[in-house]
Amino acid sequence: MKVNEIMTALEAKHPGEKEYLQAVREVLESIEEVYNQHPEFEKAKIVERLVEPDRIFTFRVTWVDRNGEVQTNLGYRVQYNAALGAYKGGLRFHKAVNVSMLKFLGFEQIFKNSLTNLPLGGGKGGSDFDPVGKTDEEIMRFCQAFMYELWRNIGPDQDSPAGDVGVGGREIGYLYGAYKKLAREHSTGALTGKSYGWGGSLVRPEATGFGAIYYVERMVKQTGDKMEGKRIALSGFGNVAWGAAIKATELGAKVVALSGPDGVCELPNGIDQEMIDYMLVMRASNRNKVQDMADKFPGKAVFTPGKKAWMVKCDIACPCAFQNELAEEDAKELIANGVKYVAEVSNMGCQPGAIAAFQAAKIPFGPGKAVNAGGVATSGLEICQNAGHINWTAPEVDQKLHKIMNDIYDMCVKYGTQPDGTINYVKGANIAGFMRVANAMLAQGII
Ligand code: GLU
Repeated sequence: MKVNEIMTALEAKHPGEKEYLQAVREVLESIEEVYNQHPEFEKAKIVERLVEPDRIFTFRVTWVDRNGEVQTNLGYRVQYNAALGAYKGGLRFHKAVNVSMLKFLGFEQIFKNSLTNLPLGGGKGGSDFDPVGKTDEEIMRFCQAFMYELWRNIGPDQDSPAGDVGVGGREIGYLYGAYKKLAREHSTGALTGKSYGWGGSLVRPEATGFGAIYYVERMVKQTGDKMEGKRIALSGFGNVAWGAAIKATELGAKVVALSGPDGVCELPNGIDQEMIDYMLVMRASNRNKVQDMADKFPGKAVFTPGKKAWMVKCDIACPCAFQNELAEEDAKELIANGVKYVAEVSNMGCQPGAIAAFQAAKIPFGPGKAVNAGGVATSGLEICQNAGHINWTAPEVDQKLHKIMNDIYDMCVKYGTQPDGTINYVKGANIAGFMRVANAMLAQGII
């Protein structure tokens, strides 16, 4: 395999699909050396097959808004690769969603799901529906209209969507209600991120954030350092940042920043339980404004409009919001301010120039597909519970999640340790994720 040749062919086939091409390039560059040691991969054209989704569904979603106006959005599901199990991955509702974005996310999902060591294939879906400013009824009507189309293509052994940006517990509830009515069966494994009591798993809401901090804790310990007292800057204030804030605080770190599209809230004394609970209120309001935190807790949270979380002095930086949210100039500012560890919690949260800057400065950098894998891993645990008609206790789920994150971390170290002893977590995660999928594809033949 020659990365540049493959990329040139892909660029011609998928012109303008920047994020998808960026995600593919990163993986191919990481695996090139290992791949070329396996002529059987080359013979079976594993990479050429892996970069294309198995199939993509695009559908019209029509619904009626609060003023009685008919609205039409586009819905998608990208079923990427099923070598390891039924397709699995979130649904994203955001105005910028298009097929290219979902292809990049679906491609990343293959490797992330593989890292969990669970039987999960890779998929992703969503819509250009913008939840900002929508009423609860509008959200429900949209979710129902979306499921009218999607329901035939999902199921516990086929494809199991979950939440992502703009899709949380409330949306999964409405989506599942519609699915159940259309499919005429209580097939709980068809969607994950359900509420506890009707098929949901305890700890699933917190899982992405908890898992990320378990991974960060290992990165910190690797250097002989400890979490206590570390200042941690999180971007976003949604479900992922919420879980990360809880676990980081529990481990003695201090959350010094949260951010939103409107600016940043600095938290000079860290975050307390009341503020953590308020993050959920902010998310449910659909206002998408972090300033609400400063308005609610004057003095404890100081809002600056237009400023990013990366301008706040911190030891650990964790992008938790959206792809490419941390640019090279942000990385330089973080480095100048003494950042010691960076862990991507959002999928592809850092631009390639930012990752290169962290790596050049020898700052340990954890990539999204490993750091944020706790979310989908716990979705996998939710499916296990659904299949067995059982509910594990919160400590049982948390313990399994913790073990999965430790195993992922160990695999990243195994495949990412460089001759000079440093750890390239990006390379480690990509190689470890790839090997499992490639071996499964080989074993299952040319199909
Ligand atoms: N959207 C999350 C992710 O990016 C969770 C997916 C899932 O639970 O299936 O991995």
